[in-house]
Amino acid sequence: MIEVHDLHRHFGGFRAVDGVSLKIRQGSITGLIGPNGAGKTTLFNVIAGRLPPTSGRVTMAGEDITGLPPHELFHKGLLRTFQIAHEFPTLTVRENLMMVPPGQSGERLWNTWFGRRRIREEEAALARKADEVLEFLTIAHLADEKAGNLSGGQKKLLELGRTMMVEARIVFLDEVGAGVNRTLLNTIADAILRLNRERGYTFCVIEHDMDFIARLCDPIIVMAEGKVLAEGSAAEIMKNEAVIEAYLGR
Ligand code: ADP
Repeated sequence: MIEVHDLHRHFGGFRAVDGVSLKIRQGSITGLIGPNGAGKTTLFNVIAGRLPPTSGRVTMAGEDITGLPPHELFHKGLLRTFQIAHEFPTLTVRENLMMVPPGQSGERLWNTWFGRRRIREEEAALARKADEVLEFLTIAHLADEKAGNLSGGQKKLLELGRTMMVEARIVFLDEVGAGVNRTLLNTIADAILRLNRERGYTFCVIEHDMDFIARLCDPIIVMAEGKVLAEGSAAEIMKNEAVIEAYLGR
């Protein structure tokens, strides 16, 4: 689904991403791991249109998407989430989900009775969809809670919910587990697995928690010093000498 060809992103003379080529297979949950400073976040930023590459190419289903801005990637079904919690804290969880879909009639409609009725119908449909999403994520009880009151893990579930309000095809998840308790981390892992199996989502996940990565991801791609060091199943990665050295060598 995604192919990265000899991608570079330099900061001055520093090569944060230094000639990365990799593939994210459609239908996979691909893990991206590596020591701090390996270039994982920079790679995500370039793929997701937040940073232009210094050189190299990214394709999605064969189409060149290099350097496209995030909103264009969004329309193609490529979403990046989790790194920054950008929920609207004073809106409820349901309202936060209803804010996501683009291309609603909104103010484009004249303020006629038909226009108002159509807006009301669209809102009702969105609210129903939001409730289905919350049900799927097992957080229906939080629908009327202000998003600002959620815990870190619940906010991450909300972020996952936002991807379900649109037709996401591939979702890039950043640091899913940071600061999230075990129970909630399991809920998040289950949601990711079910979205993958039942809805055909492809995922690429950066995460430090190896249990989480080993449970969810195949393959796992290991980066170090801006390059891809290894790729394989959790079992293969854990006995790879170069990987062990990269982690222990710091
Ligand atoms: P990771 O996500 O694997 O921890 P990053 O992609 O965040 O790695 O960072 C890779 C390297 O690039 C780090 O050494 C970091 O300091 C550097 N880097 C990241 N962003 C910038 C930037 N905007 N300016 C300069 N250096 C940066």
